[in-house]
Amino acid sequence: MSNRSLREGIIATCRAMNASGLNTGTSGNVSARIGDGFLITPSGIPYDELTPDHIVAMDLDGGFDGDWLPSSEWRMHMDIYRSKPEAGAIVHVHSSHAAALSCLRLEIPPFHYMIAVAGGKTLRCADYATFGTQALSTNMIAALEDRSACLLSNHGQIAFGPTLAKALWLAGEVEELCHQYFIAAQMATVTGRPMIILDDEEMARIQEKFRTYGKQVTELGVIGEPSL
Ligand code: 13P
Ligand code: ZN
Repeated sequence: MSNRSLREGIIATCRAMNASGLNTGTSGNVSARIGDGFLITPSGIPYDELTPDHIVAMDLDGGFDGDWLPSSEWRMHMDIYRSKPEAGAIVHVHSSHAAALSCLRLEIPPFHYMIAVAGGKTLRCADYATFGTQALSTNMIAALEDRSACLLSNHGQIAFGPTLAKALWLAGEVEELCHQYFIAAQMATVTGRPMIILDDEEMARIQEKFRTYGKQVTELGVIGEPSL
């Protein structure tokens, strides 16, 4: 993909995340890997006003080009690209249920099998640190061990994938899981019934099934992109 079309793809992803209700205002940020670095949204500019020239090119040492300051969270994006070779794009949002649950600073257990969508048997919540700091990025990297998404305490969530579309999709799945957990926890309180958490053996089975889920195998071989 050309540099120009990747810039346009980042802007389209930002607009889609706000239009879908996954994020509001200038919260959140989006990036995509290109060459030896990455392209990232500028800090604090409304997504409706973004043009491809606003997107900031960064290297993997924190250097950047141009007139616009990169997202205040460039350290989180840079540290993911440095440590996760499979990361091609990153979406950070303050989606409602993920942000609300992040204030409880809890690791979401496997109450639903789709928890495995982020790569493990729980959805971790990174320890709290001030937005835009190296401490936040360091805490996030710890929470992302063997995972492609996590919550950020008192803040929101971050998700990555091979493409912008996959990163946005995963952020949507994380928000949906947080919403479901919220409802299930409330219903458990109201009804007095325990929430049943899937055990390690079942989650290992789910993780194994996810390795092939979404790959349509025909006599022509594997077609399409895996959706997980
Ligand atoms: P930026 O506008 O600097 O990307 O900040 C938004 C945000 O979500 C900070 O955590
Ligand atoms: Zn944020």
